[in-house]
Amino acid sequence: MDRQGDMKIKKAVLITIAVLAILTVFLVALAVRQHKGEERQRLEKYQKEVSVEKAEKNTNAKGEKTSEETKKSEAKKSLEDKKTTEDKKVTEENTANNNGQAVAIPSGNGVTGGHIVCIDPGHQAKGDSKMEPNGPGSSTMKARVTGGTRGTTTGIYEYQLNLIVADELRDELTRRGYTVYMTRESHNVNISNKERAEYATSVGAEITVRIHANGADSSKVNGAMTLVPSKNNRYVSRLASASYNLGKSILDSYCVSAGFKNLGVQNNDTMTGINFCTSPVAILEMGFMSNPSDDTNMNNEQCQSKMVNGIANGIDAYFGK
Ligand SMILES: [Zn+2]
Repeated sequence: MDRQGDMKIKKAVLITIAVLAILTVFLVALAVRQHKGEERQRLEKYQKEVSVEKAEKNTNAKGEKTSEETKKSEAKKSLEDKKTTEDKKVTEENTANNNGQAVAIPSGNGVTGGHIVCIDPGHQAKGDSKMEPNGPGSSTMKARVTGGTRGTTTGIYEYQLNLIVADELRDELTRRGYTVYMTRESHNVNISNKERAEYATSVGAEITVRIHANGADSSKVNGAMTLVPSKNNRYVSRLASASYNLGKSILDSYCVSAGFKNLGVQNNDTMTGINFCTSPVAILEMGFMSNPSDDTNMNNEQCQSKMVNGIANGIDAYFGK
């Protein structure tokens, strides 16, 4: 080997070493980078797991809170039940003392042959969650009477509105020669739906008109409807046809007179206050207290007199007047 050849070999070896060194540095850098990436991924995964755990813990905490709230509300309810029982005692005493002040006296004008109408202003100041059968001989139990809904715009309670309209209707029907009975004439009573129906029977009512107002989740829902028993009702199917005529007659003239949207006559076989009736019955849902327009109109005096006239015209039409 000559000197020049030796130099060439040395140069080649040096270049090879340099290339290998660069390659090694590059590979190491690549490996480190990859490792870091995996680490980051692992960290992200861990963070995700932790946040899921946190969320679950929060949900559990909420669940515990809900059950705590339930306990509280149950305690409150039992207290209210106790109070209602006391109120009932007072009501019963009043009834005994005043001979039927709590369950209203007839306000007929004594006209012979005047048809007998029972008006039931729905609900009362305080609901009563104690149970009663849903119909004669039924094992299905429902709350004796519920608290009703409330105007989202006016803030007026349904039981208040129902009695305002019922009072006016009683006066109007009395003027027209009807004999009218009211299931209640004040708010602080405790009369169940079953008892209201039985009261109508006890006074010999030819029809019962139950005055209510509706509520819905959506504020857009509006209009009036009547609820009557269907032909398949287990207890009062014999009243279905006449009740439908009553419901249709009242609803149509009510909507024409007071300008509410007519949502039609609807069958309902789950109402205790219908199922215990022994003569035709209709529930008038005057409008939606959850709808600003209905709520405001129903609580407007001028509109109320149109509503009452409409109902009375409907009752006239039902009796063929
Ligand atoms: Zn109601």
